[in-house]
Amino acid sequence: MKIKLSGLGDGEHSYSFNNLCSEIGLDTEYDREIKVDVILRKSIRQYYLNINCSTEKKSVCDRCLSEFYMKLNCSFKVVYTYDQSFSDSNYDDVKFLMFHDTEIEIDDDVRQMVMLSVPMKSLCNNECKGLCVLCGQNLNYSSCSCEPEFSDSQFIELKKLKF
Ligand SMILES: [Zn+2]
Ligand SMILES: [Zn+2]
Repeated sequence: MKIKLSGLGDGEHSYSFNNLCSEIGLDTEYDREIKVDVILRKSIRQYYLNINCSTEKKSVCDRCLSEFYMKLNCSFKVVYTYDQSFSDSNYDDVKFLMFHDTEIEIDDDVRQMVMLSVPMKSLCNNECKGLCVLCGQNLNYSSCSCEPEFSDSQFIELKKLKF
């Protein structure tokens, strides 16, 4: 995903990219497309980029162990600048351009931000009921006839002992 800088006028420009995740170096669990929208604002020596990405990643649910596609959305802001002393804390990253650079390549930034956007918990659904600890039945599809080991009142008694 390249943005040509030569000949670009001041002001706002927008770009849309659709790529396969593998084309930007994401690994095999990313086997679908990634959509990247960029709003670029050019000032005299700086290019301010707002980047939005959305894709899906093959995952395994922590609770029910089924495979699903996890939706990932992330947005971040980067400044590309020719000014080697430039800094701006409102932006996630500042990248320095050399005077002979005529384009911006955003693949690396996008790849890193997508990987950072993966949550610690992997759930097929926030309400996933998981597997029965006794018989392994996927409780999202049907319940099982196992008796819970402790009734609620016994559990509360146990908790009192522990704390
Ligand atoms: Zn699940
Ligand atoms: Zn069961």
